Amino acid sequence: MPAATDSASLLIRDIHTLVLMDARDTVLHGAWVRIEDGAIQQTGAPPQRPPKAGRVISGRHAVAIPGLVNTHHHLYQTLTRAYAPAADAGLFDWLRTLYPVWARLDEESVYAAALAGMAELLLSGCTTTSDHHYVFPRGQGRLIDAEIEAARRIGIRFHPTRGSMSVGRSQGGLPPDSVVEGEDRILADCERVIRKYHDPAPGSMLRVGLAPCSPFSVSPRLLAETADLAGRNGVRLHTHLAETRDEEAYCLRHFGKRPLEVLEDAGWLGRDTWVAHGIYFNRAEIARLGRAGVGIAHCPTANMRLGSGCAPVPRLRRAGCPVGLGVDGSASNDSSHMLAEARQALLVQRLAHGASSLRVRDALRMATVEGARCLGRDDLGSLEPGKRADLALFDLRDIGYSGAGDALSALLLCAPMRVSTLIVNGRVVVEGGELRTLGLNAILTRHGRLARQLAGQPRAHARG
Ligand SMILES: [Zn+2]
Repeated sequence: MPAATDSASLLIRDIHTLVLMDARDTVLHGAWVRIEDGAIQQTGAPPQRPPKAGRVISGRHAVAIPGLVNTHHHLYQTLTRAYAPAADAGLFDWLRTLYPVWARLDEESVYAAALAGMAELLLSGCTTTSDHHYVFPRGQGRLIDAEIEAARRIGIRFHPTRGSMSVGRSQGGLPPDSVVEGEDRILADCERVIRKYHDPAPGSMLRVGLAPCSPFSVSPRLLAETADLAGRNGVRLHTHLAETRDEEAYCLRHFGKRPLEVLEDAGWLGRDTWVAHGIYFNRAEIARLGRAGVGIAHCPTANMRLGSGCAPVPRLRRAGCPVGLGVDGSASNDSSHMLAEARQALLVQRLAHGASSLRVRDALRMATVEGARCLGRDDLGSLEPGKRADLALFDLRDIGYSGAGDALSALLLCAPMRVSTLIVNGRVVVEGGELRTLGLNAILTRHGRLARQLAGQPRAHARG
């Protein structure tokens, strides 16, 4: 038994409302969480007395939840948020407009973009994020490495995926040839990234996945070989799927198959796969996805922003798919606020399927424990002994929550606020609403400069 005042131990006590997100939907009041060596050791509430710990934080005015899990993002896109020429476009035109801008990405800009996006995620209550990086302009082979370095420095749990595009415009694909790579080179680099960075251990802060961009930017051969490579290395597979009618038309025209069939025939349907969007599945496809246990990253804001459609979330969940949430790339959202995304999911699903289709708790479950399942993590997403100590605390005295009756409902129904305290793997990363690991102003100044440079904008926004 470790000493009660071990410096690696942390107690958050007197928590106004503690949402465990366990199978019984337990919510405790006046509660405490004790953390030891980065893991949840104990939770409890009066009349039990809280144990001692090396460090104590008060949760008196807070609602505490498991750290949010973001299952789909393109961090580099924070550099092209609200990019005027793409502000009113649908997916394919939006992509055609932005590809040439993204063709100018380099390690410095991707690093700065990752830091800015991760800072925004952390401050919104997110403790684990995935990223799907698929743009590798010629000569820029180390962009994944840059974002991994950013994650380490800022202190977020990270699931980067080595993305890819291999079918350029000259071969009938959507992206310009300048941002596609040869398939052998892609596979070799996927292997390099896995070998160098992937940590399969329980509690891991970094796991790599493989993620060809979409059926309309890679070949069926690359899809199949990527699945083989992932299987041999025990890493997960990710891609965009069934996002738009345009994608469906492309697959029918080029392969004579629907998008899901393209993936199925490449050996992708299984528990190690999660896909982003999943809007245009028919009933039979939803049943197959559910049986296979494929995860879905629901990205409501991006789907609304691009007018893509609305994912059939209640049916996907009933079929057995874990459905997590993703903020998606910051050029199609254009935000990395995870709590706002959970609220958006709740609202749009109710709009599409009725008020009883998704409970507040369901939306929070998707943003935490189901998102963790999408990423293959059974050690994240709920606050139970033995799970990693990833927690987000929101201050109920904040303006948006003033007058709220039920603290859990307030998180999803009221306007999303900034996290007050955030703990990742037992480490306090945000305190008093401020990022503690790095200076936010420096991150944003550099990010703003590189974004203007990338977009070719002459005018600077002054930052105080
Ligand atoms: Zn995406």
